[in-house]
Amino acid sequence: MKRDICWNKYDAKEEKKVYDFADDYKTFITECKTEREACRFAVNVAKENGFKDIDEYIKSGKKLKAGDKVYAVNRGKALVLFVVGSEPVENGMNILGAHIDSPRIDLKQNPIYEDEGLALLETHYYGGIKKYQWVATPLALHGVVALKSGEVKDIVVGEDPADPVVGISDLLIHLAAEQMEKKAAKVVEGEDLNILVGSRPVSGNKEEKELVKANILAILKDKYGIEEEDFVSAEIEAVPAGAARDYGLDRSMIIGYGHDDRVCAYPSLRAICDVKKPKRTLACILVDKEEIGSVGATGMQSRFFENMVAELMDRTGEFSELSLRRAMTNSYMLSSDVSSAFDPNYAAASEKKNVAYFGKGLVFLKYTGSRGKSGSNDANAEYIAKLRKIMDDNKISFQTGELGKVDLGGGGTIAYILANYGMEVIDLGVPVQNMHAPYEVISKADLYETYKGYMAFLKEA
Ligand code: MN
Ligand code: MN
Repeated sequence: MKRDICWNKYDAKEEKKVYDFADDYKTFITECKTEREACRFAVNVAKENGFKDIDEYIKSGKKLKAGDKVYAVNRGKALVLFVVGSEPVENGMNILGAHIDSPRIDLKQNPIYEDEGLALLETHYYGGIKKYQWVATPLALHGVVALKSGEVKDIVVGEDPADPVVGISDLLIHLAAEQMEKKAAKVVEGEDLNILVGSRPVSGNKEEKELVKANILAILKDKYGIEEEDFVSAEIEAVPAGAARDYGLDRSMIIGYGHDDRVCAYPSLRAICDVKKPKRTLACILVDKEEIGSVGATGMQSRFFENMVAELMDRTGEFSELSLRRAMTNSYMLSSDVSSAFDPNYAAASEKKNVAYFGKGLVFLKYTGSRGKSGSNDANAEYIAKLRKIMDDNKISFQTGELGKVDLGGGGTIAYILANYGMEVIDLGVPVQNMHAPYEVISKADLYETYKGYMAFLKEA
């Protein structure tokens, strides 16, 4: 079975659309490196496109009617957008779901300390990373500090070219004889991912100890009005510093932090904003905590989405416990997440007939999981047939794939959680190289086909 390269089918006009969409996406991943930043960005885009906060309808008692657009934010870290269809919600929704958290390095609650004249921050990494990839590279700090007063301070340091950056050191090769003998998992250990933030003592005060730490605390106090104690109620994430960039001499790819899974979140957001007057109700879920198991109040396992569908149906006037269950069961979902792209440097990790390739379009994964599909949502053949037809009718380039060779490893997504409601769900997304590395790579053509595929699914499923 041969699948064509997307690039061959584009005329000059469409090729421009591919590159323009990629430019918009680069802005998104450059500006949104945390779930909170992505959530805020999505709310702004939604508002610009006529979406209203569902709370306005709940508080005023106003009804929702076909064509109305609403969104609901879950604690600033996740959100869901709805476009009310002309059919009853009970008939089922067409749902796009992607996650907006990415692997990174979080600060501990008591992070700051001084060791021999250097000020450092203790960290605990988030998600599956090869720890050795995160050293000797410039990092930025993004996040919030919640004060006892109720005020929440936003912090971003390291993105403006005039900003300083921070980072984690690595052992010089000259002294690494022992380190080089270690297994990759142990070359750099989790507890050693300490971020260097200062080396200069505060001036004056010669009697006291820890003057370098004192200087950093003074800077934090001066710049943000925060005390050392305030880190207890902070969420600060260290992420690779700098902008996403064109990759390849032909500019056909993008390198950047957090393609997983913002490369699916962004076209999902754009698609739900661009579809007009749908028959079935549309939903777009952008969710947090996927990288650590979809747990917590802002992860997919939380009841948030179900509760918001209940609120939506209450406002369309069709809520009942039974109608809600029917709406969930009758829904179609695309669980959008990245997959591994074939990499000639690591060809042995994939089985060539069932792996995704750059430039061949969005990739459907019937199943994910590990050790014999364990933990996977194994999509139904009938549902795949329906989607295949939609993609072919709309000339969307798609391919099928698996994460890699059988029993080599594996992975999971949010698919199985929605499938628990009895709805049809399949994994699909954009192929990625270097997944979970500080800088990941995607193809612009695959991103564009994914956006077009979402549009076709929302309109026709
Ligand atoms: Mn993912
Ligand atoms: Mn991931």
